Amino acid sequence: MDNLALAQLLFPDVADTPDQIEARYPDRSLPDGARVTRMAPSPTGFMHLGNLLAAVTAERLAHQSGGVFFLRIEDTDQKREVEGGVEAIISAFDSFRLNFDEGAGVSVDTGNYGPYRQRQRAGIYHIFAKKLVEAGCAYPCFCTEAELEDMRNRQSAEKANFGYYGKWALYRDCGLDVIHEKLNSGEPYVLRLRSSGDPSRKFRFTDLVKGKMELPENDMDIVLLKSDGIPTYHFAHAVDDHLMKTTHVVRGDEWLATLPVHVQLFEMLGWKHPEYLHIAPLMKMDGSSKRKLSKRHDPELALDYYDEQGYPVDSVLEYLFTILNSNFEQWRTQNPLSPIGEFEFTAAKMSASGALFDIAKLNDVSKNLVSRMTADRVFDQAADWCSRHDSEFHALLTLDPAYSKSIFAIGRGAAKPRRDITVWRDVRGYMDFFFDELFCPEYEYPTNVSEDDRKEIIKRYQTIYNSADDQSAWFDRIKALAGELGFAPETKLYKADPDSYKGHVGDVSMVIRVAVSGRQNSPDMFDVMRILGPERVAERLNKALMA
Ligand code: GLU
Repeated sequence: MDNLALAQLLFPDVADTPDQIEARYPDRSLPDGARVTRMAPSPTGFMHLGNLLAAVTAERLAHQSGGVFFLRIEDTDQKREVEGGVEAIISAFDSFRLNFDEGAGVSVDTGNYGPYRQRQRAGIYHIFAKKLVEAGCAYPCFCTEAELEDMRNRQSAEKANFGYYGKWALYRDCGLDVIHEKLNSGEPYVLRLRSSGDPSRKFRFTDLVKGKMELPENDMDIVLLKSDGIPTYHFAHAVDDHLMKTTHVVRGDEWLATLPVHVQLFEMLGWKHPEYLHIAPLMKMDGSSKRKLSKRHDPELALDYYDEQGYPVDSVLEYLFTILNSNFEQWRTQNPLSPIGEFEFTAAKMSASGALFDIAKLNDVSKNLVSRMTADRVFDQAADWCSRHDSEFHALLTLDPAYSKSIFAIGRGAAKPRRDITVWRDVRGYMDFFFDELFCPEYEYPTNVSEDDRKEIIKRYQTIYNSADDQSAWFDRIKALAGELGFAPETKLYKADPDSYKGHVGDVSMVIRVAVSGRQNSPDMFDVMRILGPERVAERLNKALMA
């Protein structure tokens, strides 16, 4: 076969040579040991935790080493592409503060190693496809669906491995004249790799997460260019990662099966392959067994879920680090206040078999994290979330920021801060009773206090509440009131002699709490009343009496 003639026949319009292209992608001038990593998602509209895990890993590897982290859009599969898919990718990564140094952007793409969208690179792939044809490493295949089906049936009958390889590869040795004829009559074709691999031969490979492994050589004549001239992932990623100088590819371990193809492609093209980190999918406990998180059953797999629920970005990142690097929690205990970026991330500490994702643990991490934030920070982040998800509450929350911040300040800064808020969605329910517009009391009083006593407590409290009291004077009044109405002013007195009392000071406080806040669960009542102010407290007590 005259490979040069075949290459010319297949790619008459390719004028540039591989060397010319290589010259457009010079080595990056980076410090020694700097890593160049990328995210290369397809714009399918579904961004999931796996994408985020890979992105955090890739971002850390690059930025910890003074390298480059870029975004490439793998849009070769137009059937799976959705409108707005690219914007969704960019905004998802953006919201988790993953800053790309170069690559695809919402309005403009930036960087010297583009184009960063694969469809815009079609001409480049053709140059290297032509090179493979010239070297006898690729050929056109005109197989129809029927021919492929027939091949599968015969393979099944012979109990042979499925696929297009070896003796089954119908067009592998097709003559130039037949090819010419088929091209002339406009028959569609794909470009296939002419594989010389033999799966009975194994080669050694070290994945930076999975460790050392032995892989069989690839013998499949896989498709490099589809019939529309657009490359497959296998071919495109090899060309792109070589030209863009990617040093480390971080991706899902669904690509392990075709890793032999990728290594082979780099070899055939005469290039060094990048290092690979294959990340196993996240698992979750289902009863007593583990299973992969699934798009259908687990809403928490989708990245959108975290913003919808109102998880602080820091909580999600903090939790992801605990499952990404086994030594993170220990580091966090030793460095409780350090920014997460100071943690030294290493591929060696990643789980080879799929980390367990536990939303209860994420909630716990989040509660702790929010409890340690300043009131100002809580206000800013809650307001930001409400502006996007709850405009009614946003208006109230931001009407008087000082008022809202004083609510968030309750119990904050203490050694054991209150842990009421897990997600920003909780904020409304936590503090709605502070706003008259949302005050919707459920008057559930302690059952051991009679209606008469309850009314008496509220009436008398109206006359003695003094907003100038400090916390102990405030509580002394409630204790005194308890004593006057036949309730033990101290719980221990009640416990020692329950028959002598109607109840204890806790019951009296609870009546006041329910009357003022409309609920049994609320932050410290002294603080609540101080923030509500004397007029509102008086109104609330009146309202409770009328109810
Ligand atoms: N487009 C591929 C995917 O979304 C990218 C894999 C890779 O990062 O190389 O799975």
